[in-house]
Amino acid sequence: MPRTDVVLADPRLVAAEGRLGRTVVKDAVAQAQRRVRQGGLDPEEVADAAVAALPPYAASLRAVINMTGVLVHTNLGRAPLSAAATEAAVAAAGFTDVEFDLDTGARARRGRGAMEALARAVPAAEDVHVVNNNAAALVLVATVLAAGREIVISRGELVEIGDGFRIPDLLVSTGARLREVGTTNRTSYADYLAAVGPETGFVLKVHPSNFRVEGFTGSVGIVELARLSALGVPVVADIGSGLLAREPLLPGEPDAASTLKAGADLVTASGDKLLGGPQAGLLLGRRDLVERCRRHPLARALRVDKLTLAALEATLRGPATPVLEALHADPGTLRDRAEALAAKLAGAGVEARAVASEATVGGGGAPGVTLPSAAISLPERLAAPLRTGAPPIVGRVERGRLLLDLRSVPAGLDGDVLRAVLGVSG
Ligand SMILES: *Cc1c(COP(=O)(O)O)cnc(C)c1O
Repeated sequence: MPRTDVVLADPRLVAAEGRLGRTVVKDAVAQAQRRVRQGGLDPEEVADAAVAALPPYAASLRAVINMTGVLVHTNLGRAPLSAAATEAAVAAAGFTDVEFDLDTGARARRGRGAMEALARAVPAAEDVHVVNNNAAALVLVATVLAAGREIVISRGELVEIGDGFRIPDLLVSTGARLREVGTTNRTSYADYLAAVGPETGFVLKVHPSNFRVEGFTGSVGIVELARLSALGVPVVADIGSGLLAREPLLPGEPDAASTLKAGADLVTASGDKLLGGPQAGLLLGRRDLVERCRRHPLARALRVDKLTLAALEATLRGPATPVLEALHADPGTLRDRAEALAAKLAGAGVEARAVASEATVGGGGAPGVTLPSAAISLPERLAAPLRTGAPPIVGRVERGRLLLDLRSVPAGLDGDVLRAVLGVSG
């Protein structure tokens, strides 16, 4: 077995150490040495194998091509950032003027550019604030407006967000009490009216963003709930997906501007769902309430990083996001791309064909809505090698076939997809 220090002296590994750090390089060498011990590698090949096994980055997170047909996939990091947002985040990665005014040389308000961009995108909001995620926005609002008091909420809106996390548990963790009103399927204005009183901190309306109730149903809209606001009870709306304005393709999905115009006092939303930006929690609405949230000690624990502020601002000011592009992709163009790819693969002897597919928004947005799409249908056995290849490609398996859906893939990546499938089809 070649000694570790001898292998590490290989010039390629010395160079890699400068880029990736000693731990990453040593791990690659140790892995190659294990293969020698198991008899799967010749001792003189250890350095070559270690070089081949070096990861592209010092972090283990890999860039993945999402061909699941789920545009905002929580397990795949939700919204992919636009090139503009990525560049802004890279530029902010070093020293940056996040809390500093370069003109005066004095301290400045943290993230003022992102706040200005958000306020400009939603003129109906008197003020805005940004925290770590939507869950953090809800915790902050619940703490500020209702700790030790009651949050009035419909039984039809006690939502589990995912991975076992539930909005009611989150709210109660702040010391607020829930005052549940109505039933699972129907809640009326009278239910809310009967529940509000001196103990009420606020009324919360939560968008059922990952499920649909059908049949004998009824819920109370913001316009009606705003009558409670006139009685002095703040009305807070958790809209979920972060649409700032109406999206014609998703008529059932609430947006911040319309919700505020309908009379909500505060709106909370995620930054990395349909808004298409970095993980963040948006708080928009009445100036006095936003200011109380911003001033609360908890706000410091929930504040966002400079990378997030940079990416969020660029998302808000920049060109259409990848999520928006995917949402608006033309089905005919998707079909043409699937057919061109399938023809090239079939020409190379791969058992591939283009098929119609149905994509979804996913990630807690527009439940039940399907978007016409196109996919390459491949033998199911290619799923694992494609997933573990470079770049990893994640599709979905349906009725014994691997479907690679093109709706969430920018056209510029078709060549990469082709090479990856050819690479595992040998
Ligand atoms: C996704 C979602 C949340 C949680 O948002 P995070 O940004 O993941 O914390 C809360 N409420 C609703 C309605 C959601 O859809």
